[in-house]
Amino acid sequence: MEEINIAVIGSGPAGIAVAVESKVAGMENIVILESKNRICDVIHTYYHEGKRVDPIFKKVKIDPIGVLSFETETKEEFIERMEEIVKKYNLDIRFNNEVYKILPVQDKFKIITSKGVEYLAQFVVIAIGIFGKPTKPSYPIPSAIKDKVLFSAPKTPPENKKILVVGGGDSAIETACFLSEKNNVTLAYRKAEFFRINEINACGIRDCTCQGSVSLYMSTDIEAIEPSGDDVLVKFKEKPHETFEQVFYCLGGMSPQALLEGVGIEFKDSKPVVDEFGETNVNRVFLSGDLAVDKGTIMAAFNTGKKVVEGILKK
Ligand SMILES: Cc1cc2nc3c(=O)[nH]c(=O)nc-3n(C[C@H](O)[C@H](O)[C@H](O)COP(=O)(O)OP(=O)(O)OC[C@H]3O[C@@H](n4cnc5c(N)ncnc54)[C@H](O)[C@@H]3O)c2cc1C
Repeated sequence: MEEINIAVIGSGPAGIAVAVESKVAGMENIVILESKNRICDVIHTYYHEGKRVDPIFKKVKIDPIGVLSFETETKEEFIERMEEIVKKYNLDIRFNNEVYKILPVQDKFKIITSKGVEYLAQFVVIAIGIFGKPTKPSYPIPSAIKDKVLFSAPKTPPENKKILVVGGGDSAIETACFLSEKNNVTLAYRKAEFFRINEINACGIRDCTCQGSVSLYMSTDIEAIEPSGDDVLVKFKEKPHETFEQVFYCLGGMSPQALLEGVGIEFKDSKPVVDEFGETNVNRVFLSGDLAVDKGTIMAAFNTGKKVVEGILKK
């Protein structure tokens, strides 16, 4: 497991600002983990071609307090500016590394990514913005069964239910094993083998299947789900149709709230609680960017990067 000083999660304006300000302050061993294959994915995806990017956005004018700033320019120019910054400060960005779990381990944090890679960090800065969503299946989910179809593991497991978990990565296996303590669980995956799972989960799912607490449906795809009385009728392609009381999809992606709650971060009025430096109730876990402010803008994201680094330096 690679040991790092600061793990920055997300390479949008906020994550890049945290890494830049850390370097300017003389800190080293900072790694940015980015779920996509490029920086500023939200700007690439949601801004239209040639969009004007304004430092005053939604009437919010903020003066820069740190190293990063910009004047009105096009989307393409802004992205180029950010790419130049990444080069200039030699930022270490690990692409295609979606963080799905952050676990306290003694006085550090273990960070687990969908690539099956694990990092051990002294400080964690979460800068994932507000646009993350769990991946949904390609077929529709009828509204009559929406409350029985879920996209992340619950904090408290249901009891005595017949449950289907869909997916083949670490989060699907962890969800299946967690739910199997009190329920009858089946795990369905469309491939013949699990995808890049870590060793603990490989052992975990082997134990669960040996003990009979999880049934495995490998090489099993689903073509549709429908209501059936109080249950969900799952139409498997390769197997007879079957009903379940709940279905959990673990297909990658997650809402920011699910990741934050998983770390134990407190929320008030649906907003995570942070101090003036962006530090949460979890010691040494900070938030930066859209997650840390009421009205998200790029300048606010840059400035939260500076404040987070001041908070880290104080520690
Ligand atoms: C259409 C539109 C137009 C806008 N126009 C303007 C404007 O003109 N001026 C302005 O100031 N603001 C504008 N904004 C707002 C601005 O884009 C945001 O405030 C800013 O992008 C927030 O930066 P951030 O770094 O906090 O988050 P984001 O930009 O959302 O970046 C988050 C990054 O984290 C990554 N990520 C997400 N989840 C994970 C995970 N689990 N693991 C690893 N990486 C992850 C994402 O891929 C992404 O790269 C606009 C927003 C929209 C939607």
